[in-house]
Amino acid sequence: MNFKTDINYRKQSLIKLLNTVQNHEDEIIKALYDDFKKPAFEAVATETSYIISELKHTIKNIHKWAKPALVLPSILNFPSTDYIYKEPFGKVLIIAPWNYPYHLALCPLIAAVAAGNQVVLKPSELTPNTARIISKIISETFDKNHVACVEGGVEVSQELLSQRWDYIFFTGSVAVGKIVAQAAAKNLTPVTLELGGKSPCIVDETVNPKLVAKRIVWGKFLNAGQTCIAPDYLIVHQAIKPRLIDCLKEEIKNAFGENPEASPDFARIVNEKNWKRQISLLENENIIVGGTSNASDCYLSPTLLDEPRLNSQVMTDEIFGPILPILSYKTEEDISNIVNKYEKPLALYIFSENKAFVKTCIEKYSFGGGCINDTVSHIINRRLPFGGVGHSGIGAYHGKLSFYIFSHQKSIVKKANWLDLPVKYAPYGDKLSSMKKFLQWFS
Ligand code: NAD
Repeated sequence: MNFKTDINYRKQSLIKLLNTVQNHEDEIIKALYDDFKKPAFEAVATETSYIISELKHTIKNIHKWAKPALVLPSILNFPSTDYIYKEPFGKVLIIAPWNYPYHLALCPLIAAVAAGNQVVLKPSELTPNTARIISKIISETFDKNHVACVEGGVEVSQELLSQRWDYIFFTGSVAVGKIVAQAAAKNLTPVTLELGGKSPCIVDETVNPKLVAKRIVWGKFLNAGQTCIAPDYLIVHQAIKPRLIDCLKEEIKNAFGENPEASPDFARIVNEKNWKRQISLLENENIIVGGTSNASDCYLSPTLLDEPRLNSQVMTDEIFGPILPILSYKTEEDISNIVNKYEKPLALYIFSENKAFVKTCIEKYSFGGGCINDTVSHIINRRLPFGGVGHSGIGAYHGKLSFYIFSHQKSIVKKANWLDLPVKYAPYGDKLSSMKKFLQWFS
């Protein structure tokens, strides 16, 4: 077994992983339901099918991505052949969150294996059923000296972070991201941090409110709002706000019926602690839709809040649940005053038919990625880098980029021996003026 240098071995490992995940797909869907009633449709659409597709794409391209990439040589090195050799970092630690517990554990793992690394994966303890299946899949597929899954809670993460790694890939909260970055700094270990934040969704007065409402309700209440790139809050032009609220109410009903608790398409909050936090966010707020809850099932209905204060808890914390605050604006300055109050978000969404307004928003605000006239969908295209900026994260991945982030790009100049130009060697004598001319020609 030499996964470091043998690309065929890596490819065979990924083919084996593909077979294993396909064989266990029903168990994964059930585990996701057992963990927080993730609807089967969402489990397939956002977790299992994503991983199958990522595996197929990686298996198809691994040889192309892994082979040394020739680059044009510098004339100053003439004669030479220059290339980039993709070296695995070595020992990689992946720490995953609970909200897409299968997708966010397996997606970086596929790339780390493809790039030739030895991997330890720590899935989230908050989704124990899914963690168990992930562990089973990994032990059935890989030799434990190649890829291992370590289940457990915060103390296990802390123990792992106290060890030395060659790369750490972390997905989770900003607060824990800082802990990971500190632990990594001790050994100058490179990191990817896929974090969260408050992702705004701006709606101007030029839109079709019915269509906008449908796209917002989909992106916000998918996974019961527990999506890192879900719209966290709306900033709506005051002229369209009443109509948009009516449409949002209508679309919530269309998606989840009169009683979302009875809908098979609406997930639950992952645990009691997080459920209590959601409920506390509603205190003293003006609830215009929803707010219905059931502690025994960690249920909170899709909830709309009207004009919370910017310094209320719901507007200072990342919501990460089915609560959508609606703020209004009159001028572009009002929007800036809200968006710039917070750290750079992971996502930003703009609904508008006004090209100039869209351009201004994209130029003015720094955010990981986003959509114009939709929510969440930018994650689907693996040709788009996925990641944050500032407090919402460091680094980006997906598709080919994932392979690259788990590889050190080693630059090699292979000098030919049939010619050895004397210019660069001492004694320099009167070579300075001819070297200057030479550099002028080629710069
Ligand atoms: P979290 O940070 O609480 O936990 C993530 C992982 O870190 C878990 O495996 C957990 O065991 C571990 N962990 C928790 N506390 C730790 C500590 N003190 N020391 C070391 N390890 C610790 O995050 P979460 O609640 O699982 O996920 C929700 C957060 O993740 C949200 O902020 C969300 O925005 C973010 N998120 C980001 C992305 C992304 O791709 N950018 C995707 C999903 C979730």
